Amino acid sequence: MYKHHSALGVALSLKPAAPVTLIRPQAAARAARYFSTKFPGRSLYAVKANPSPALLETLWAAGTTHFDVASIAEVRLVARTLPRAKLCFMHPVKAEEAIREAYFKHGVRTFSLDSMEELDKIVRATQAAPDLELCVRLRVSSEHSKLSLASKFGCELGDARELLQAARQAADALGICFHVGSQAMSPHAYVQAIERVRAAIVDASVTVDIVDVGGGFPSTYPGMEPPPLEHYFSAIHRAFESLPISYSAELWCEPGRALCAEYSSLLVRVEKRRGNELFINDGAYGALFDAAHLGWRFPVQLLRAEANEADQDAFSFYGPTCDDMDHMAGPFMLPADVRAGDYIEIGMLGAYGNAMRTEFNGFGVESIAQVADEPMASLYREEEPAPRRSNVVQLRR
Ligand SMILES: *Cc1c(COP(=O)(O)O)cnc(C)c1O
Repeated sequence: MYKHHSALGVALSLKPAAPVTLIRPQAAARAARYFSTKFPGRSLYAVKANPSPALLETLWAAGTTHFDVASIAEVRLVARTLPRAKLCFMHPVKAEEAIREAYFKHGVRTFSLDSMEELDKIVRATQAAPDLELCVRLRVSSEHSKLSLASKFGCELGDARELLQAARQAADALGICFHVGSQAMSPHAYVQAIERVRAAIVDASVTVDIVDVGGGFPSTYPGMEPPPLEHYFSAIHRAFESLPISYSAELWCEPGRALCAEYSSLLVRVEKRRGNELFINDGAYGALFDAAHLGWRFPVQLLRAEANEADQDAFSFYGPTCDDMDHMAGPFMLPADVRAGDYIEIGMLGAYGNAMRTEFNGFGVESIAQVADEPMASLYREEEPAPRRSNVVQLRR
């Protein structure tokens, strides 16, 4: 793949007629290094956020060795792309055939569950294997998150005792996991959920080997600027340390969004302007599902060679399909003189952007270019070591 210097460079040199996904492997690698050095435990990448093989390879190269997969297709994809990766099948409701293939063909040992039926299924499908790592998923609140994951999965506290005790019997290692919802805006979400883990452990009196705090770590978007990730990590670490578990118990997390949001952005062209509505060439059925259906605001910038003096104004977008629902309300702030033929970069689409792309109405065929410039926003920019200067003496603390 040809590497471009910047998003602007792609717009000016290619003048693409179709949308282009701009990838920034360096940004995903930086996020992966951040989690592997600062999270006080193990980080599993949640593949559903962005299953691109190139991204999987980038994360692996940056030290991510464990992957949270949720379907047999994701199991096969990661097994094919990264044969040495460790896969954890963290969907609490799986097909028995999927469990069997994952265990016997791909070496998967870690499975999550939230019911006795699922436990029976796992035991049956693996022929009562002696080396299972079973993670019981607890239902927890999503009140601090922008996207709820609270109603579909997770066992109620009242049912956890029976399930934990039964899973303990079937498992070599027993874990408890949860998901606080995506884009959790406060570390308190995790502290609250870990309190629930404590209650479950005390009530069931079982030995727990793994506490998995799931995903939900935020990225940064206009109007949704979270506290620094280190605040999350230290709050989780404190809460984990206070649990009634053995010293050898492991702490895991499953970031999706936080590892890949900065990985890609989208280069689109304005095909028509009507008042403050811009008709662009990607939309709700492309990489902008969350912008259309959740009202998510992504950062935008106009890409023109010449400097722009116009004031910023608020715009909404229509995507290219013939469907009225292909509409992104924004508001997206752009120079007031934006017009047909202009190129716009829409940032922070690496998580749940391309992963949900369709080819509805003949749009959405993806083309990709790699760029070297910074993502439009970052939670990690401060993290790289400053360039070394030989004349600076490091003071000992
Ligand atoms: C979706 C999902 C994740 C990733 O969530 P993010 O909010 O993207 O971090 C992690 N674990 C499970 C079980 C999930 O379903």
